[in-house]
Amino acid sequence: MRIPLIAGNWKMYKTIAEAVDLVESLISDLGDISGREVLVCPPFTALHAVSSLLQETPIGLGAQDVFYEAQGAYTGAISPLMLRDLGCAYVLVGHSERRQIFGEDDALVNRKLRAALAHGLRPILCVGETKPQRDAGAAEQIVTGQIRAGLAEVGAADLSEVVIAYEPVWAIGTGDTATPEDAQSMHATIRRTLAKIYSQAAADGIRIQYGGSVKPDNVDELMAQPDIDGALVGGASLKAESFLRIVKFR
Ligand code: PEP
Repeated sequence: MRIPLIAGNWKMYKTIAEAVDLVESLISDLGDISGREVLVCPPFTALHAVSSLLQETPIGLGAQDVFYEAQGAYTGAISPLMLRDLGCAYVLVGHSERRQIFGEDDALVNRKLRAALAHGLRPILCVGETKPQRDAGAAEQIVTGQIRAGLAEVGAADLSEVVIAYEPVWAIGTGDTATPEDAQSMHATIRRTLAKIYSQAAADGIRIQYGGSVKPDNVDELMAQPDIDGALVGGASLKAESFLRIVKFR
């Protein structure tokens, strides 16, 4: 049984006061969320304030990035230890904006993922192809390559702590969503790849989220696909109303 995970990636939005407002609205209007897990990933600067508000609520806390060392002379970096200290349970690694804007490659993503696991954080490994790669017929090859490289040296025992987020780069922040059928097809490919690397049982247990312009009006059909186990939501997670409608997918 895979419990769907709906996660909001707030990116570089929200001051502390705005983050507090949003989270207070989420908590007060959440209602019954049985059968799903909910997560918010605020910017680093708001993690402390949001973490205090989320105590004793069913909403979990995640960060958007992490460095691979626990401490040291790494100016500007945030370690897995520090994220644990703030109450984070999850962390995104390899988001396409980190890969494209900050030049992160698969080897760095893998180091971050393994560091997260080593410190008891659950990594959400983001993978996805660009539009030119899709147009060239290389989407599956790119995504399975990112999966293999991102999970290098991760043992079967740790795999159950990992979540995969398939986020076609061309669908992020564009309003252009993958069709439910295309998303399902890639999710099935990812699960087959995991079965080859690990085992069918391990692959069946891992959650694969879809991300890329998930909105209240497309979440239901995406979540109806058998291999889509949640959503990683950017823009639509910045307002309580739209995020809560996504959380309450039917
Ligand atoms: C994201 O940031 O991971 C994302 C999918 O953004 P959006 O929902 O805005 O496309």
